[in-house]
Amino acid sequence: EVIKKTLADTTVLLSKSYKDKTAIIAQDISLTYLEFDQHTNQIANGLLKEGIKPEARIVFLGKDTHINYEVLYGCAKAKAVLVPINWRLSPQEILTIIEDAEAEILFVDQAFYAIISQIEQQLIGLTKIIGYNKPHSSWSDYTQWRSVQEKTPPNLLYDTEDVVLQMYTSGTTGKPKGVQLSNDSFFRLLDTMQSKHNDLWMDINGTDILLHCVPFFHIGGLWWGVQSLIAGATLIMQETFIAWQALEYIEKYKITKMAMVPAMLQFMLSEPNSDIADLSSLKGFLYGGSPINPPLMRRAIGILNCDFYQIYGMTETGNMAVCLRPEDHIDISKDCIKAAGKPLPGVVIKVVTPDFIDVPLGTIGEICIQSPSNMVGYWKREEATKNTLIDGWIRTGDAGYIDADGYVYICDRIKDMIICSGENIYPAEIEAVLSEHSAIEEIAVIGIPDERWGETAKAFIVLNAGYSLKKRELINYARGKIADYKIPQSIEIVEALPRNSSGKIMKRVLREPYWEKKERLVN
Ligand code: ATP
Ligand code: MG
Repeated sequence: EVIKKTLADTTVLLSKSYKDKTAIIAQDISLTYLEFDQHTNQIANGLLKEGIKPEARIVFLGKDTHINYEVLYGCAKAKAVLVPINWRLSPQEILTIIEDAEAEILFVDQAFYAIISQIEQQLIGLTKIIGYNKPHSSWSDYTQWRSVQEKTPPNLLYDTEDVVLQMYTSGTTGKPKGVQLSNDSFFRLLDTMQSKHNDLWMDINGTDILLHCVPFFHIGGLWWGVQSLIAGATLIMQETFIAWQALEYIEKYKITKMAMVPAMLQFMLSEPNSDIADLSSLKGFLYGGSPINPPLMRRAIGILNCDFYQIYGMTETGNMAVCLRPEDHIDISKDCIKAAGKPLPGVVIKVVTPDFIDVPLGTIGEICIQSPSNMVGYWKREEATKNTLIDGWIRTGDAGYIDADGYVYICDRIKDMIICSGENIYPAEIEAVLSEHSAIEEIAVIGIPDERWGETAKAFIVLNAGYSLKKRELINYARGKIADYKIPQSIEIVEALPRNSSGKIMKRVLREPYWEKKERLVN
């Protein structure tokens, strides 16, 4: 039986071959593949009864449980497009996304009753809100709505090119943009890899138990859940990431593979019980989404006895495009440990000038990605799509280079680059070097205006408990390790760094007070 590679068609196959196998465990709920398939049919039938047409936008606001994936697949089976919303956003920001997406139906956990009630009057485009009835009775309204629908699949045909997901970017550099991803974004890259070089990528299969802790509303989280469900593995979901609970879950469920952003890893390894927890079931650890500092990576390699995979990619490339494989993590004295990895089979990377002209190997420029998983385009943003998606290439906005062995190195975001007296400084390089200082727990470097040099580097530092740090000490420490013009001329000790929900430091927030009345060269 040939199964079309679409989200909708694959659950049918899984429900037949895995039937009573556990698909998802979320808190005290456990669903088999058969039950999961039936629930998704019910949602599709329910949506069709509400009168939605193909490509209708359906928004989802809730923490991470089995319901997120039921609704994702249910929408796909009704030929609708799911728009997951970051629940940490303010009511106004949530409203903006619902309006931008021209959403017709909203699925919402009652836990967010207070938020929705603040914007309820303005939700005029919606025809229905499912789950929103009274406060403090999580999803009971939703369950009621679902359970009265037919369990048989709707009689529809699905196409691999159907848009199934409209995922908003993390909003690290500006307002989130709605990225349209099709079934192809989930299956084509995987297919290419499996047919050509199966051994080049982490093998996720029916014997695996995966931990889900990156939020569903980020491509890295949702993609991880879909990989589990495609493979017939069991997905263990954290409602939201809690470091000690992640350790507990690894032990309790004998997690075999997990995926995290570096900030989560940092929290997890800082937990007091991280060195006594039994993590021996772990076979594979995937990380990415933002740069990782060298001390953290060394600590992780020391503590977790498993295969490490770093991935680099973005929402616009349907998650990963470049991967640093386990063998590149073995000898940490090698240069390639600083790379993001090599392009995955089926992906092509090039580095270009601002005029989109290729630069020679080893030269820094803007990274561009051609991947079978690339987005269809930004929703309702023709201009932005034209500037980002050029002849199948995604311009990433990241500065980087490729070395003679084909490794891709990410220097930093072009927007975060500092131009000091005509020299380009990549804050990530300074951060990597200074994070080795014993007093420093976390560091973020930005460019601030300077009369003489145009811009100079300023460091925001979170100290390790019990440590202090003077500017002079830091300058002495940095001397010889990085060029003098890169050494931060100003430091500020802070309690915490402003991070968004994908653990990324929001440099624009740090920069804002310094650039209010001045224009930056980069941007
Ligand atoms: P926005 O586009 O809204 O400003 P964002 O770019 O953070 O937000 P995502 O699509 O979630 O939204 O993140 C993609 C970006 O994350 C990449 O462009 C890159 O800057 C960064 N990134 C991802 N993986 C890595 C990695 N392994 N190393 C360094 N940076 C990474
Ligand atoms: Mg981006």
